[in-house]
This record gives sequence, structure tokens and C-alpha cells, in this order.
Amino acid sequence: MECFALCEVKYWYRYINKTEPESNAVDWNGQLRMKNGIAVHNAIESAYKANIFTRDFLISNWKLSWSNLCKPICDQQDVDSEEVRNLWEQGARSLDMWWSTTGKLGLHTDRGLVEVMAFDVLQGIPIVGKADLIYDEVLYDWKTGWGVPKEETLAKKFQVILYSHIFEVKKIKYFYLWRNKIVEVDSRDLNPKPTFELLDAMWFALHENRFKPNHKHCKKCEYSSQCKFLLTN
Ligand code: SF4
Repeated sequence: MECFALCEVKYWYRYINKTEPESNAVDWNGQLRMKNGIAVHNAIESAYKANIFTRDFLISNWKLSWSNLCKPICDQQDVDSEEVRNLWEQGARSLDMWWSTTGKLGLHTDRGLVEVMAFDVLQGIPIVGKADLIYDEVLYDWKTGWGVPKEETLAKKFQVILYSHIFEVKKIKYFYLWRNKIVEVDSRDLNPKPTFELLDAMWFALHENRFKPNHKHCKKCEYSSQCKFLLTN
């Protein structure tokens, strides 16, 4: 949905036509950051699945995921070695942060509460939701990006609105591992109107196979070399 809201044509390239961006347009450092985030999530999920909550177990699972997800990129692409060192530090630090806060919840949960999947159809669009953890009517989502939004910004995010519809929880807490910050919203105070309007627009675009370009994003777009709607000025 974030991609569709940015540019409908980009959404078409990425999710309908499944176009691979030209490799020279790929931000490999950005890809590494994203994959390192997945490796951190994988380590946390392994802890819940194995019911082992020790620092060594977390770190060794994160390293395993790093070698599967990130090392192949480092081996093949010209990535910045300082960026890699930073990512290693962030990975280890973020797992420490996770353990010192939400990690303790693992001691009280069972596997059914972790990686919770749910399906729904909203405005004619099938939606799949995957929560990191639901405990005591609170949904937790672990984030591995640098940005930490204000509460009012988080309350407008499509993902948060959809979580509140799909999972019946009282609160949604986003835990920003890189920054050791938690931002939470009350699910009952959310305004779902813009999200449902966007779902309507998606429904029409998908059914009429018509996707509108948004030229504001062209300069940063990974499909710019292939897109016939590209505007350069
Ligand atoms: S180049 Fe511009 S119009 Fe084309 S997909 Fe990217 S953002 Fe959309």
C-alpha cells in the first residue's frame, strides 16, 4: 500500500509485472540494511520458537541469517565495508535492546502468539496481516529502520490501521530496535478513512488495469530507466 500511495505505476512494476529493477539502480547498501533487519527478526523468532532466551542464542541465529541473506550481497557487490561494520554493530546492539525490553515477554508467551497471521477482505482487496507478537491484547511490531515517527504519524500508517482491523487488540506498539524507542497507539482512536479510500483506489486500479504515475517520485525511483512515464524535469 505504501508503494501504491507513492506511485501506482511503480506498484504495477513491482507487484503486478514483477519487473526486476536494473541492477545499477539498486541501492545495495539499502538492500543490506533491509536484509539485516530481516536477520534480526529471524533471530528473535528463533528464540520464541525454540523458547531459548539467551544472548548467545540470539546472536548466533542472527549471524546465521546474516550469512544466508547478507553475505551473498557482500560477496558479489561493491558494498561499503564501513556500512557492513555498522550493520554488524547495529544487529548486535538491537538484539540487546530487544532483550532488555520486549524480549522478556517471551518468557510468558507461547508460540501461538508469535508471528500471528490473519486474513481479511477489505474494500474487495484480500489482506494478509502478520504480527510479530500479540500478548495481552497488545500487538508488538519490531522495526529495524532508523526513523522513529511521532505517535500521531504512526496512527496514520496504513499498516497500523490494517492491524487494528485484522487483529482485535487494544494497543499497537512499534518497537524501534535501532533506537531503543517504543511508540504506541490506541487502536480505538484511529481514523481508518484514508486507508479505506486508498483500498478503493487500489480496487479500481487492479480491476481496470489502469495505474496513474506520480512524477514527484521519479528521481528516486528504481524503475526510472525502464518507465515510459518518467518525467525528468
Ligand atoms: S519513474 Fe516515475 S512514474 Fe515511473 S514508476 Fe517511477 S515514480 Fe512512477
